[in-house]
Amino acid sequence: MFKYTAVVTGGAGFLGSHLCDRLIKEGLKVICIDNLITGSAENISHLFGNENFQFIKHDVTEYTYLPGRIDYILHFASPASPIDYLKLPIQTLKVGSLGTHKILGLAKEKKARFLLASTSEVYGDPEIHPQSEDYWGNVNPIGPRGVYDEAKRFAEAITMAYHRYHGIDTRIVRIFNTYGPRMRLNDGRALPTFVSQALKGEDITVFGDGSQTRSFCYVSDLIDGIYKLLMSNEVNPVNIGNPDEITIREFAEEVIKLTNSKSKIIFVDLPEDDPKVRQPDIRKAISLLNWRPKIGRAEGLKITVDFFKKMVPPA
Ligand code: NAD
Ligand code: UDP
Repeated sequence: MFKYTAVVTGGAGFLGSHLCDRLIKEGLKVICIDNLITGSAENISHLFGNENFQFIKHDVTEYTYLPGRIDYILHFASPASPIDYLKLPIQTLKVGSLGTHKILGLAKEKKARFLLASTSEVYGDPEIHPQSEDYWGNVNPIGPRGVYDEAKRFAEAITMAYHRYHGIDTRIVRIFNTYGPRMRLNDGRALPTFVSQALKGEDITVFGDGSQTRSFCYVSDLIDGIYKLLMSNEVNPVNIGNPDEITIREFAEEVIKLTNSKSKIIFVDLPEDDPKVRQPDIRKAISLLNWRPKIGRAEGLKITVDFFKKMVPPA
């Protein structure tokens, strides 16, 4: 039977692996390309041996060619957590720029539809709240986070240039903080860090006074929004995230309660350029894609804590 073929770069990562699962479930063949710099073969090990799945270990900042027909390319390769991209600044800039260029070249060669995984970080430390797609952002290009934010801003720019100049069929999703199973417990992001600390009975490290806000989206909701965007006709960026906003301090308290932990909150230095607020305006996703998140934080956190519990011996 004929099947469409999708390429997922960064497919061995947290989000990429869930995307591979979804695309296979939708009846596509999936080719996952990943150099495993921050991802893990474990995330896709359940797909090995599936006739609709292929894994290629490759760095997409190098020349990338694949034989045969390709219908969709979803470009997710990039370090994504602040400690990863602070440790890997040049690789982060390279994969957002050179990598996106190479993968757009592949899309052009194959006449494939290309979807870029962009980020709410393009809004930087935002001056408008919540953030809608027409806001251009407030990014410090030379700050430590600039390597990620500017790489993604460049990636959006070159994606639109390939669309306008070469007529490539493109999509851009601006992803807001997403969580769920297959996150790394030690990836430094607030959610896995707090859960790990709570399960081990260690102090919960809230950066700054914890008044900064984030809005956490459960992974299956995000993947659903991305799939709908891929299948839509929208070329301009679309925010996908859960608008349920919470301060980081309240979030730490929520994790302590949910895990019945004896951990105490401690306050440590706020990293440079840490955005003060973040909440997606999802009116576009609602009207255009008929998408809205379904999994609330209580439900999503419970599933994620259960996943993490398997990795942490009880305190
Ligand atoms: P992740 O680190 O788990 O996954 C990224 C994957 O890309 C890893 O498997 C890594 O090995 C791979 N990769 C990195 N550089 C590569 C290269 N040069 N060649 C081939 N593979 C390479 O991170 P994630 O959270 O799954 O993020 C995936 C994508 O979604 C990223 O592009 C990220 O910017 C974007 N995003 C994620 C979030 C989030 O909340 N998780 C938010 C906004 C945007
Ligand atoms: N944060 C924190 N303690 C930690 C890790 C993160 O207080 O151990 C804060 C961080 O400063 C930020 C928020 O939690 O304000 C979310 O951080 P994360 O790294 O999860 O994502 P991002 O800053 O990229 O949204």
